[in-house]
Amino acid sequence: MLDLTVIPASGIALPAAPFRARHLIDGAWLDSADGAVSERISPSHGVVVSRAAKGGKAEAEAAIAAARRAFDDARWSGLSGKARAAVLLKTADLIEANVERMALIETLESGKPITQARGEISGAADLWRYAASLARTLHGDSHNSLGQDMLAVVLKEPIGVVSIITPWNFPFWILSQKLPFALAAGCTCVVKPSELTPSTTAILGELLAEAGLPAGVVNIVLGYGQPVGATLSSDPRVDMVTFTGSTAVGRGIAAAASATLKKVALELGGKNPQVIFPDADLESAADAVVFGVYFNVGQCCNSGSRILVHEDISEAFTARVVELSRQVAFGDPLDPATQVGAIVTPEHGAKIDGYVLAARKAGAKVELGGSSLAVPGLGHQFYQPTVVSRVTPDMAIAREEVFGPVLTVLTFRSLDEALALVNDADYGLSAGVWSENVHTCLAFARGAQAGTVWTNTWMDGFPEVTFGGVKQSGLGREIGRYGLDEFMEIKSLVMRIGRTRAPWVRPR
Ligand code: NAD
Repeated sequence: MLDLTVIPASGIALPAAPFRARHLIDGAWLDSADGAVSERISPSHGVVVSRAAKGGKAEAEAAIAAARRAFDDARWSGLSGKARAAVLLKTADLIEANVERMALIETLESGKPITQARGEISGAADLWRYAASLARTLHGDSHNSLGQDMLAVVLKEPIGVVSIITPWNFPFWILSQKLPFALAAGCTCVVKPSELTPSTTAILGELLAEAGLPAGVVNIVLGYGQPVGATLSSDPRVDMVTFTGSTAVGRGIAAAASATLKKVALELGGKNPQVIFPDADLESAADAVVFGVYFNVGQCCNSGSRILVHEDISEAFTARVVELSRQVAFGDPLDPATQVGAIVTPEHGAKIDGYVLAARKAGAKVELGGSSLAVPGLGHQFYQPTVVSRVTPDMAIAREEVFGPVLTVLTFRSLDEALALVNDADYGLSAGVWSENVHTCLAFARGAQAGTVWTNTWMDGFPEVTFGGVKQSGLGREIGRYGLDEFMEIKSLVMRIGRTRAPWVRPR
């Protein structure tokens, strides 16, 4: 048996009854017309955590119609930035007041550790506050150098009705990267959370009503990609779809949206490299590598799932990463000591295992872990912290998103070779470099094809600093000022001062 740090069942009390989640359409909480419901069973505890209304096309269309009416009568976009900001700020306060309730249910639905769920939800409150500041400072441009008789202004207007489709790995954080920014812009929305993690989105609906958001401005439809997500992506009354999830589904959404040429924003997968040079602070780098790959059980778009280590230090560095990986506490997500929780579904666990098995068969070496493991008192839906070395760039484990606690180790000899390996990828979400030489870091940052580059750190993020991917990691940007701009249309207004224009038609 491997020497790993396993946290057994803590015996912490579970909720007395499953959370009951309903659709929020035009201010009313509704079950599906046909009464369909889906149950979410906790991946860690095996109990039913939530019973959610399972929407169909009818619910999706009713929600879109409500959002369309709410946009067209300007009940939200017609308010001042100050009034919109007040609702967003109140929502942030309410999120903070509900952290414990939401963190518990998110932990049980997703399998993530409770400390990470708490951090995600309280951190999301800050996104709402930052978006409130944007609602008040939103402005366009003016042009007064076009000649004495001309003045032009560029206005920013809300794009309209926005469909928001979110995944299960950070259900509340990802929603909060989108929704407050869309609301700050003056848009109205229809939100569809993942069928696996519907509850914190539904709770947010309650908080928005309490914060004074007018009915119909945010509508929530629970259910699956087909038919709910597909309807939200294709309905002509929707002006924009913003989606976070897998690259395959993102491609389908872009295709569905193309019939009516809606704007599409996509935050998709990644295969994010951290590159370690011999002159780096290797102890900090090893710790960041371990954090980067095991955070959120590796089910993270920003997972640092492949490291490129300079050949001179690869053996010693890998050994240190393995040693630290053994100390990562995995097991009961409800125990505050746990750092790595459960895998979201058994099917996903099998997919992770498939990548490791294929790599082993192709000649890679599993240095640590490499299979699922039962946690005493909780069952089998856990995957051991896993490190795979002797990986070659052509292996699937080096190129595809494993989305689990599995680290892939490759080696390089020069900066040019490292950059070539980094950029030899379909994805381009994030990349990192570890070196004490500023020239190495800057050359890497300039050359890496990625939406975010970290130097001597990993996964630090701020509401002010925009986020997004290049290549097949996505389209558009979230958070920061650019995140707000995604939800705006630009209108140019050109004005003549006085009657100075010479007539086009010359009298004969
Ligand atoms: P997924 O693509 O399976 O599902 C995401 C959402 O899309 C869910 O709500 C799902 O119900 C919905 N959906 C499914 N089929 C649909 C369809 N045909 N039309 C419309 N909607 C549909 O993704 P997931 O498994 O929930 O999440 C994991 C993926 O998300 C990973 O690939 C990960 O990298 C990615 N992700 C990306 C970021 C980022 O910011 N770049 C962040 C988190 C997760």
